[in-house]
Amino acid sequence: MAFLLIKTMDKLVETDKAREFRRLIEESHKIVLTCHVRPDGDAIGSTLGLWHLLRSLGKEATVVVPDKAPANLSFLPGFKEIAVYTCHDEYVRSTVAEADLIVCCDFNTPSRQDALAPVIQNAHCRKVLVDHHQEPDAFADLMISYPDMSSTCELCFRLIAGMGFFGEVNLDCATCLLTGIITDTRNFTVNIKHPDIYEILMRLLEKGVDKEKIVKDALNTRSYWSLRLEAFAISERLRIFPAHKAALITLSKDDLERFHYEKGDTEGLVNRPLEIKGVIYSIFMREDADCVKVSARSIGKFPVSEICKDLYGGGGHLQAAGGEFYGSLSDCEALLIDNMERYDRYLPAKSPAIKM
Ligand code: 5GP
Ligand code: MN
Repeated sequence: MAFLLIKTMDKLVETDKAREFRRLIEESHKIVLTCHVRPDGDAIGSTLGLWHLLRSLGKEATVVVPDKAPANLSFLPGFKEIAVYTCHDEYVRSTVAEADLIVCCDFNTPSRQDALAPVIQNAHCRKVLVDHHQEPDAFADLMISYPDMSSTCELCFRLIAGMGFFGEVNLDCATCLLTGIITDTRNFTVNIKHPDIYEILMRLLEKGVDKEKIVKDALNTRSYWSLRLEAFAISERLRIFPAHKAALITLSKDDLERFHYEKGDTEGLVNRPLEIKGVIYSIFMREDADCVKVSARSIGKFPVSEICKDLYGGGGHLQAAGGEFYGSLSDCEALLIDNMERYDRYLPAKSPAIKM
């Protein structure tokens, strides 16, 4: 019975891809798993989830990431074993050089790995992409790209089922995979295309995963200053553009300093303006040390990925995208505002006016 259910869940992943991935794993001993810069729950969940699986299979696996993962993910089993390129570049370089296989999780273009990109791209071994972002660059030998998946972790689960490795999924692996699904879907509220994700949830719960603890640790563990920064951002830095159904929040370096900003503190902030009736898309701009980081979210079919691609050299998904701007925060804002009209054609024909 359990076997039959698992069989139905792999149907969204092409059999050839799962078979080829399994073959590459079986032929390799040293396997590197890697993800994008500023890793989130899905990036860490998918790499660490596969890491646990590969270890159960007797492989020598290592997770290498471009920069540090946020502390709210430190509860994940195996977190301490992650090799961070900005901290241990020599170790990461030699591990990558010795790898038989590299699995690239949760990013669609090498530039999403910043300084780690050339290290991974110049490696001679075979590479597999496991990702759910649109229009990936063809940089891997095996491209497993499914943009209709909520998360790379959802895709990983289906792949694992498709490869026939469900029996090797232990509690640690299940915990990591569910964390990525929970963070990318905001605890099963957004980005879900396939209803049988609830069957995946059931299978992971059956492995003994503590879902409440994941929600508490990964989503609801903010600091005092992070909450105050969000309150400030919403009350003082939120602008609404009723004609374009848009919301914009900007935070300058000074704003961030005033609220003792730490990495991860603005996670989720970009979603908040979508709670306003009538707002179709929301953009958040944060003045970081080297660039302005742009994050965007939308509801319905409004493609914020287009805005991020056109204006900020980025991309992502229809409803969740991002990019970077190399210039002042005010120029970054102006670029958006000057171009808002271009995107009005994507607004739904009927939607409530924003009351202010
Ligand atoms: P976030 O707003 O959480 O940083 O990013 C949301 C999504 O947008 C990510 O999952 C990723 O797909 C995409 N994204 C964010 N920043 C960038 C970027 O700088 N470049 C590209 N290509 N995509 C990004
Ligand atoms: Mn993801």
